[in-house]
Amino acid sequence: MTIRQLSDHAINQIAAGEVIERPASVVKELVENALDAGAARIGVSTAAGGKTLIRVDDDGCGIPGEQLALAVERHCTSKLSEDDLFDIRSLGFRGEALPSIGAIARLAMTSRHASETHAWTIRVEGGRKDGPAPASHAGGTQVEVRDLFFATPARLKFLKTDRAEGAAVTDVVRRLALANPAVRFELSGSDRQTTTYAAASGERALEARIAQVMGTDFVDNARPVNAVREGVRLHGLAGLPTFHKANSLSQFFFVNGRPVRDKLLMSALRGAYADVLARDRHPVSVLFIELDPRQVDVNVHPAKADVRFRDAQLVRGLIVGALRQVFAEAGHLASSHTARAAMASFSTGYAAGSSAGLRPATSDHYGYQRSATSPAPASSDWRASPFRPLDAAEAHAQAAPASGFGEAAQAGFETLDMPSADARAHAQASEATEERQSRPLGAARAQVHATYIISQTEDGLVIVDQHAAHERLVYERLKAELAVRGVARQGLLIPEIVELPQEDVARLAERAEELEAVGLVLEPFGPGAIAVRETPAMLGQIDIRGLVTDLADDLAEWDSSTRLRERLDHVAATMACHGSVRAGRRLRPEEMDALLREMEATPNSGQCNHGRPTWISLKLSDIERLFGRK
Ligand code: ADP
Ligand code: MG
Repeated sequence: MTIRQLSDHAINQIAAGEVIERPASVVKELVENALDAGAARIGVSTAAGGKTLIRVDDDGCGIPGEQLALAVERHCTSKLSEDDLFDIRSLGFRGEALPSIGAIARLAMTSRHASETHAWTIRVEGGRKDGPAPASHAGGTQVEVRDLFFATPARLKFLKTDRAEGAAVTDVVRRLALANPAVRFELSGSDRQTTTYAAASGERALEARIAQVMGTDFVDNARPVNAVREGVRLHGLAGLPTFHKANSLSQFFFVNGRPVRDKLLMSALRGAYADVLARDRHPVSVLFIELDPRQVDVNVHPAKADVRFRDAQLVRGLIVGALRQVFAEAGHLASSHTARAAMASFSTGYAAGSSAGLRPATSDHYGYQRSATSPAPASSDWRASPFRPLDAAEAHAQAAPASGFGEAAQAGFETLDMPSADARAHAQASEATEERQSRPLGAARAQVHATYIISQTEDGLVIVDQHAAHERLVYERLKAELAVRGVARQGLLIPEIVELPQEDVARLAERAEELEAVGLVLEPFGPGAIAVRETPAMLGQIDIRGLVTDLADDLAEWDSSTRLRERLDHVAATMACHGSVRAGRRLRPEEMDALLREMEATPNSGQCNHGRPTWISLKLSDIERLFGRK
């Protein structure tokens, strides 16, 4: 065994492995260099998602000819004064990007410094340097990177489709554009439509840039944040709790102007929204943290996307405190007056009522054969179910006061304000009630706030969250249908056109085949819209726009490693959410009982798809204790 020093080329390839993961990493490094050079205009152009070509143009300070060779040399940087790693004020500082790119791709850098009469070009291809040679270029710097990973073909295999890589490039440019409102950005190429963010100036520059990048919708649904604590400043826009997304990709954090994806910050954001947002939804925000560079270490990873704060608790407290204050002022903070004792007495369906706790029924009121193993009924049966989504006429009928409790409703159902007139029917009804009361989820007695079903069991009462419960049932049924024969679809008379950002359209188009398997047929409709032609039959009428938008969010989080099965389940879950009885819909008594019976027969019905309980129960003995009777 002999120990020898690695060649420079090998060292650069190793560094490239960490710094350059995909085309978007190259774009990030080159645009950061342009920003560090003080550019006011930056152009980014790509081909094949950046795999074959990335070109970044800037009007920054440029590099003098005699320094060009040094710029592509490892560990050479103009940015670190006095080797102080704890006082970093530029985006770059490691002097690694250019040599890394040159080691694995074909790099050409042309630059003209203000002090020179002409420009110079230097090339590095697979580590081999050529130049600098005189060239013509107006001013600033242009860097061209062709054939990424041609020198390390093994890494090519890890790249995703051109579309996905192109979308990642877009994401990087969006993040850097958010942090630099005064800089004009143009993103173009043979693989995309041109996007331009005009330079924004003045007091509201940041807001203007946020609107350019994220849409006015977000700005209209967000509140400004501005807080300082012990020298740390937090500012930006926080989305209102009612403006939420299915994933966390719309959370942007910047630390001293550097875009970061940091766990501590994301968790602080979750904490700030914890009381005002459903657990499966994600807030949207653009937040900037400014602090003394010595209070934060950005040299945690070569890609510089992680940071470490000296005082993490201070930063967390600042975020949570400032955002809660904003929500309180916006009047969105839900207050909880729940009696602690009562809370402690409630047991949740999640804990006590997983399928083991409920007897699987073999057949329910409606003649459906149900057990944990039997397949779900055909979709036509489903549509005959009493709690299928409302059609327009029913919705109208239910909107009229008291009409939800009609003649039929009174059979087998008692309410305080509506005693049955017919004594015989009443007797029959109470018999039926007794029988239903012996079921695990009891006999439905009332619906409150058009959201919760209250039912009476032999030894207590149960409160069911109708949306959560129904969502679970639809999900289980979609999964069962999927396993047996694929989900039945229904065609729309007129395709529904949903306008979406280009990246979302691309993502949906890419997965069209998988979506079809779960009953959703769609295709791109121009670059900025999707045409939906068929939807899963069992969902009935749904908010197609909402569904498609949420699915696009879901897709953005998948990568090539997510298994098909998981993806389909996820799509089914998102669909179930959209195809379920919403909170706020009045249910007829027989609908409530049918829902309870179906829950008893369905595996996993004690929790919704996101792990929240679908029902909670309170024992009579606990109620008595709460009233001091025991
Ligand atoms: P770092 O950014 O960490 O310093 P790089 O390898 O990215 O390392 O760049 C090396 C050096 O090349 C920089 O320090 C800078 O002096 C010079 N440089 C790179 N890109 C540009 C540019 N677009 N304009 C001016 N100078 C640049
Ligand atoms: Mg750099």
